[in-house]
Amino acid sequence: MKTYIVGNWKLNFTVGEASIYLHKLLKKVPIIREVEVVIAPGALALQPLSLQIDRHKMKLAAQNGFYRDYGAYTGEVSFNQMRGLVDYAIIGHSERRYIIGEDDKMIGKKVAAAIRNKITPILCIGETESERAFGETADIIRDQLASGLMDVSEEDLGKVIIAYEPVWAISSVKGAKPAAPDDVAEAVKFIRKALSDIYGAKVAENMPILFGGSVNPSNAGAYLTVPGVNGLLMGGSSLILSEFTDIIEIAKRVRS
Ligand code: PEP
Repeated sequence: MKTYIVGNWKLNFTVGEASIYLHKLLKKVPIIREVEVVIAPGALALQPLSLQIDRHKMKLAAQNGFYRDYGAYTGEVSFNQMRGLVDYAIIGHSERRYIIGEDDKMIGKKVAAAIRNKITPILCIGETESERAFGETADIIRDQLASGLMDVSEEDLGKVIIAYEPVWAISSVKGAKPAAPDDVAEAVKFIRKALSDIYGAKVAENMPILFGGSVNPSNAGAYLTVPGVNGLLMGGSSLILSEFTDIIEIAKRVRS
């Protein structure tokens, strides 16, 4: 299985700035067979960057998409419209769940819509600080997995990537604190067990699980060596060229 390094740019960078950043990134990043580098710029930059990117070096992801392919849904962007532009889509990010108000059912439909349009969904799951304090982490993880994968057929389960992002560890959340690698290990073990209980051992073994939350060059190696972690999803560190390229280099080293 490849190691995934995913950068979520959120609302940072204009289209021009995104293009300049990508230009610099392409110069610094070699082709690495074992490491899949993925960047998720804002929606407006996807089309121009899809012409600029070297897909042997890295791939594009959408930060979101709509669950219907066509119709009267003013202002939305469908996965059908992004087909061919992006290889991946981040779905169910905590900012979409808790700021925009997306619910589990909608997130499940988006996962299915991405797959239908040949885009690999990166389904984000993770508990909030208060859910963790109330001992609800396992229930939240199980519920978000089950609902996120609800509309995915058995044969398509192999096309999904999970990102475990405890909300309390995301750097933009007030009072965020990095997760201890042991906590990540425990959560990832639980995710694989929940997947195994619901879908069977083979699905559980083969589904890539990424970790995200305040990842930086100093802790990336520790998270990447947590058993069962197949990559990293990051916000802040993906915006700083030297940090992002250092993390890619660490991933390469960990894999060799
Ligand atoms: C994120 O937004 O998904 C994220 C993990 O952000 P950060 O790396 O900045 O904590």
